[in-house]
Amino acid sequence: MSSIDVEQPSTITEIEEPPSTASYHFSLPVLTSSPADTPRPPAETPIELSEPSRMSRRFRSPPQSRAFLKRFFPQATTADWNDWRWQSRNRIRTLAQVEKMLVLSDDERQAMVQGGSLLPIGITPYYMSLLDARNANQPLRRTVIPATGEFVRTPGEADDPLGEDGHSPTPGLVHRYPDRVLLLAHDFCSTYCRYCTRSRVVGHGEILPNETRLKKAFEYIRQTPAIRDVLISGGDPLALSEVKLDWILGELRSIPHIEFIRIGTKMPAVLPQRITPQLCRILRKYHPLWMSVHFLHPDECTPEANQACSRLADAGIPLGAQTVLLKGVNDDVQVMKELNHKLLLMRVRPYYLYQCDPISGSSHFRTSVQAGLDILEGLRGHTTGYAVPTYVIDAPGGGGKIPLLPNYVVGREGDDLLLRNFEGGVFRYPDPQ
Ligand code: SF4
Repeated sequence: MSSIDVEQPSTITEIEEPPSTASYHFSLPVLTSSPADTPRPPAETPIELSEPSRMSRRFRSPPQSRAFLKRFFPQATTADWNDWRWQSRNRIRTLAQVEKMLVLSDDERQAMVQGGSLLPIGITPYYMSLLDARNANQPLRRTVIPATGEFVRTPGEADDPLGEDGHSPTPGLVHRYPDRVLLLAHDFCSTYCRYCTRSRVVGHGEILPNETRLKKAFEYIRQTPAIRDVLISGGDPLALSEVKLDWILGELRSIPHIEFIRIGTKMPAVLPQRITPQLCRILRKYHPLWMSVHFLHPDECTPEANQACSRLADAGIPLGAQTVLLKGVNDDVQVMKELNHKLLLMRVRPYYLYQCDPISGSSHFRTSVQAGLDILEGLRGHTTGYAVPTYVIDAPGGGGKIPLLPNYVVGREGDDLLLRNFEGGVFRYPDPQ
């Protein structure tokens, strides 16, 4: 048996801040009291709406972050804490580190000792500070701490459920739809989500941001005029240096038929300190540039996440949230409503609610499809329309996103369509055939 304790070594040589190759400085004090004593933000902590929208240079560190820092990184300063590179270098990656910060359940410990998961452990100190030290069922904790459910295989699951590997004309480029491509910038994420659709790829150190690979991808795009839209994802593209991002975006913008560039990232949720004024200055050079930000739960909508999203929005980047529906994490109308309300306050439009892909070892996370429809039913008409995302299943095998809606058309009488509203009332709409 091996323990999940070491991220796959990376041979990244081109980026300035390859977090997985940085020398690893980590010191933990001997605990003198329970980790549970670490102050936690109450679930209903309101977002600081007074947050200035101007780009202040510093992130504010709430008291619970400072307490976590003092306890587990006593030699570090708040300036270190607010430095995304420090956060990347000091990610929590081993069982020994995790169990000094959390009281592990038997299941969590067994999963980490057993190893064999496709996905390494990686958690930024910032995100770790949001976890409940004693409650293994806390939603955020379930998404980043392994469980033995990862080793259970059920029918219909696959390592590559979306069939991306079969649509890859050149390494790290997925061309599944005629007019758009997915460019995997690299396979590194600052925090690894246990339900990741690309767990077969991320954290393995095999997709590198080297120029040779990327130039082949750019060449394919350049030679394919039908492509008008590029989604840069990964791994998390914003884990790259500004220099590398500037180069990638510049290359894409130099291709005349590329109209639209999108970046998919979880940084505002797991490492909001990454959204620096300097990064925003680079990004805003390449408009129209849109961003899909990955949020799961209202507890991720912290003042720091708010500040990160404000910076991106102030840089003119439209923000849409992508949320994966996960059992025991956010499969509840009230949780989803609170999340979507907080996202709107952070100037992020809830965009997609994804049914969890049937990746290998995901059955403990997957809900029924009816659970997703019930959430949609509980949102539409009961809150602001902007707070209602599109619920989709990404069809296994590469069939693309298929939207799902509760059934609001209840029948027809002659030339009238019978429609059900959010309160269950039936209304007629003239629809002559
Ligand atoms: S941030 Fe995205 S790509 Fe990275 S582990 Fe999480 S879901 Fe996967």
